[in-house]
Amino acid sequence: MLVVMQENATEEQVRAVCERIEALGLKAHAIPGSGRTAIGITGNSGAVDLGVLESMTGVIECIPVTKPYKLVSRDVKEEDTVVRIPTPSGEVLVGGEHIAMVAGPCAVETEEQCFSIASQLKATGIRLFRGGAYKPRTSPYSFQGLGLSGLKILSMVRKQYGFGIVTEAIDNESLDLVEEYADVIQIGARNMQNFSLLKRAGRAKLPVLLKRGMSATLDEFLMAAEYVLSEGNYNVMLCERGVRTFSDFSRNTLDLAVVPAVKKRSHLPILVDPSHGTGKRHKVLPLSRAAVAVGADGLLVEVHHQPEKALSDGIQSIVPEEFAELLTEVRQISSVLHRKLN
Ligand code: PEP
Ligand code: MN
Repeated sequence: MLVVMQENATEEQVRAVCERIEALGLKAHAIPGSGRTAIGITGNSGAVDLGVLESMTGVIECIPVTKPYKLVSRDVKEEDTVVRIPTPSGEVLVGGEHIAMVAGPCAVETEEQCFSIASQLKATGIRLFRGGAYKPRTSPYSFQGLGLSGLKILSMVRKQYGFGIVTEAIDNESLDLVEEYADVIQIGARNMQNFSLLKRAGRAKLPVLLKRGMSATLDEFLMAAEYVLSEGNYNVMLCERGVRTFSDFSRNTLDLAVVPAVKKRSHLPILVDPSHGTGKRHKVLPLSRAAVAVGADGLLVEVHHQPEKALSDGIQSIVPEEFAELLTEVRQISSVLHRKLN
């Protein structure tokens, strides 16, 4: 259910409607748009008696939302959400006209490794650094990540270069720590339907980068995001990272068609990960070009200074020089689309 406020509705009027909704035992989510504020209502198991809300001052109308997802839907907010990521070197914007580049190794391995990659990425001008301290690996015998000491390395990178840090949380315990050390909480493909983790991320103060599950439908993907928003965290960025298909020439099939499909249904930004999406280094550049051309709001790219020695995902990691070339090309594509690349 959605309460649409008048364009000139005051903050008090919005607050009064929210309070009335809460008094009915429901949850109110005031989502300001450029023109008007809409208030999403969640927590209702059946139809809500809206008469009382519709007669309140400042309200235009109450409309039922028929889709399973509500807060992520364009019905609630017509214009694109621009997620603002505070970093030590100022805010990074993602969505709307802003395209964000996130790059770094699959996993944090050593201080030397991260600093070496970070210094070369810093020279390219990008502002968000990725690297996993907690790695959800298919085999329990594969490198699982450095955990807390990995987060500490990332926070040193953050301090030295001013990067915003994007890193994965795999459970509630690691999420507490990621919240303390990083700037964006990544929820990985394997955890896209870990509903208790999604709810915990929804109570976090940091923006969330939510990756698509490897067999998730578009509705399941959006419903996962809905979990985060429903707890009050509206700063969610989606990320397409490839899905499983019969295609046998790449690790996953990068579903670029999901980008315009998401944009039609949701106001949330969507990034593309061409590294996991293809699994092969030589495919990262062409699919990055395509992702930006199709309307992605950013790219998440695995970069390693010595990919042949990487402890995970070396085969799909590109070297910093290749990333610099990729950046030059996607910058040109974004300018054709009248978008700004940060
Ligand atoms: C990653 O980004 O390193 C990662 C593990 O990705 P995904 O969850 O998409 O497999
Ligand atoms: Mn990886």
